[in-house]
Amino acid sequence: MTDCVFCKIANGDIPSSILYEDDDMLVFKDLHPKAPIHLLAIPRKHIKNLFELEPEDSQQLADMLKKIPALADQLNLSNGFRLIQNNGEGGGQIVDHIHFHILGGGQLPAM
Ligand code: 5GP
Ligand code: ZN
Repeated sequence: MTDCVFCKIANGDIPSSILYEDDDMLVFKDLHPKAPIHLLAIPRKHIKNLFELEPEDSQQLADMLKKIPALADQLNLSNGFRLIQNNGEGGGQIVDHIHFHILGGGQLPAM
């Protein structure tokens, strides 16, 4: 989508600190980190959130969920990490392009 900030990051139209990218997904640093390590994982495809997930998108998200732990060493997260994924206004979603917050570094407090 042309007015979507994460599509612009995926297209290289907005600069970001990208730590990993392939044909399907990117991992980059959150602009306003809430933990010592705060990354965002997004699919290149514009999907708004889980409410709008189409059946054909499910495999893509499953692949992302497998890729993130496989990248743990590369992302300095081998000690562990937390995934947060916000959906809709009430869920605190600000950017309407589905994303996983990847939090880690040090010891996160229990939820
Ligand atoms: P949400 O509240 O939608 O789950 O989270 C959106 C996240 O995107 C926020 O943590 C915010 O700091 C991050 N963010 C918003 N705009 C940008 C941007 O232009 N670049 C980067 N790297 N992160 C952004
Ligand atoms: Zn988008």
